[in-house]
Amino acid sequence: MSKKRIHQIAKELDVASADVLFHAQELGIEVKTASSGLTEEEEELVKLAIFPEEEVEESVVETVTEVETLENENVEVQESNIEIVEVVRNSSPSKIASILNMDSTQVVADLMGIGIMKGIDSPLEDTEIEKILEKYNLIPELIDAVVVQRENIIEIENFEDNIEDLQVRAPIITVMGHVDHGKTSLLDYIRNEKVAAGEAGGITQHVGAYKVEIGETGITFIDTPGHEAFTHMRARGANVTDIVVLVVAADDGVMPQTIEAINHSKAANVPIVVAINKCDLPDANPTKIKADLTKYGIVTEDLGGDVQAVEVSAIKGTGVDDLLETLALVAEIEELKANYKTEASGYIVESRMEVGRGNVATVIVKRGTLKQGDFLYAGQAFCRVKSMFDHTNSQKKTVEPGSPIDLIGWDESPIAGDQFVVVKNQKEAKAKAEENKTKLKDFDNSSFSVESRMSDMMKLLQEGELTTVNVILKADTNGTVEAIKDGITKLANDDVKIQVVHAAVGGVVLSDVDLASATNSLIIGFNVRPDSQARNMAQSKGIDIRTYNIIYELLDDISEAVLGQMTVKTEEAVIGMVEVKTTFRAPKVGVVAGSVVTEGRVELDAKARLLRAGVVIYEGTIVSLRRFKDNVNVVNEGLECGIGLSDYKDIKEGDTIEILGEVEV
Ligand code: GDP
Repeated sequence: MSKKRIHQIAKELDVASADVLFHAQELGIEVKTASSGLTEEEEELVKLAIFPEEEVEESVVETVTEVETLENENVEVQESNIEIVEVVRNSSPSKIASILNMDSTQVVADLMGIGIMKGIDSPLEDTEIEKILEKYNLIPELIDAVVVQRENIIEIENFEDNIEDLQVRAPIITVMGHVDHGKTSLLDYIRNEKVAAGEAGGITQHVGAYKVEIGETGITFIDTPGHEAFTHMRARGANVTDIVVLVVAADDGVMPQTIEAINHSKAANVPIVVAINKCDLPDANPTKIKADLTKYGIVTEDLGGDVQAVEVSAIKGTGVDDLLETLALVAEIEELKANYKTEASGYIVESRMEVGRGNVATVIVKRGTLKQGDFLYAGQAFCRVKSMFDHTNSQKKTVEPGSPIDLIGWDESPIAGDQFVVVKNQKEAKAKAEENKTKLKDFDNSSFSVESRMSDMMKLLQEGELTTVNVILKADTNGTVEAIKDGITKLANDDVKIQVVHAAVGGVVLSDVDLASATNSLIIGFNVRPDSQARNMAQSKGIDIRTYNIIYELLDDISEAVLGQMTVKTEEAVIGMVEVKTTFRAPKVGVVAGSVVTEGRVELDAKARLLRAGVVIYEGTIVSLRRFKDNVNVVNEGLECGIGLSDYKDIKEGDTIEILGEVEV
């Protein structure tokens, strides 16, 4: 029987191959790629699905003549021109490059070629990922990132050392503070002016992490400013940072992200050194900054507290030496020590592809001495340390604890935040990486659902095992933040304290969820809502976000929490919206709506409302849900799917379907 390839049909119909493939699979036809073939009958069905009713006749007539000339009897259909690949949502060009096994800069250039300007590490929209992959004959199957859940699967190993084996090590510093207060400028200044240039000369580029040689051990800086990276690592269980430099602009003041940085550092129990920046400006007022900071529990030495503050100018460099000396001093007080005489372990700070070097990871050694030739694993990646380069591009044979280093010799790109551990030999390192890979794969394939942490918390409170309720509070105005903070802390009783880990103006965002995860907190929003990233992350981590607009309801709930009696409240709400692009018939289901999820998600068995011109014309259940030819349970925003509604056949192109589900309130 003669068959015609999908890409040929697509060309004739002037539609994308992916469309033809999608519709064919929706019809239950066994096809995998754009090189798969369709019989004449199947082709007709697919055309009907793509161009319903009268449009079809025309296109069919047009194509039939061409078809005759192209048709061959018994065409051997070759699979494999177009492939479907899984791509994590919001992947960056460098991530796409690693999937395609090509250079990141090539992907950036190709994106530019189709009018999309993006940096190597900028996240891409769903449609941008689709467009760039289409260029390489690939269709993306977009999946949500599982990175956030890695800590559920890959545990951090803790190592014990005898006190007599411990020696001082370099402190690891993260720079945090409000946007535009000068974090990047400060890191740039220190990197350019205070790092001894190596063989390659000065370093003007961002380098993941670098070390300033001062005092006995030197000081290591993580070269990515901001609390996102810090909190994200901590939520993963990686305690990398020893000291936080809090940058506050002297001409501005304490701002929302300054407060966030303070709260994040406190929650992590990491000491703060304040860098009052932009002191070169005429309207700089360091005294006011210090006074403001006291409201947030940061009392500097000259005001009778124990926090060190240094006046600097990141642009002119004034005060930077003072700052470095202060950091060395604080590190000494903190007595940061490590065992040098053991196998190394530490954390991945970032990883990237480099021409001629392949996968390169900047890591920070936290324990032991790392040696060239060592075998190690980090998550599912394995590395035989082929060579090591420091931030000045000088090659190293050994690296001591507290130091950053670029490692070469990875089999695949390791993930930032993962712990690396040196083991005895290649066999063990590979086995560990493989074990983690299997764990991650099993995890991806299972319908893993995270139990609400709140239920656990309530149980522990009732049993008296927990004596503090941690709360992260977000609200619409400063006034409400303060009022609610006061209100809820008064609800504490003799047995249970309420600790507001972080309180700020604004919606609930990803870093709040990371902080909640690291500190086991409830998140409370007053007159604000979580954004979709925060909501998804909270869901995957089992973290509760409660939102309120009536204050006594909020206080009632927290009183219940103190008694260990807070419960998960749900109500029926719209969890997704779908637009019907086309309809076609399918065996068993009847009429299938070929749709795109425009918002939220669609779930199999969910209740659904069919709307035409805004009017509800049918209410029923989603009885069939398919992505390509597979039956699936959930389809997320931005993706196409085929939907069958219970006992309803009159679905039309242009209809919308509201998907209802139980959501926590
Ligand atoms: P970040 O958002 O905290 O990383 O801030 P940037 O380092 O990007 O700095 C924001 C702006 O403040 C830039 O225009 C810098 O040139 C300027 N800036 C940073 N530090 C200083 C400083 O010490 N003095 C002055 N006058 N300007 C500064």
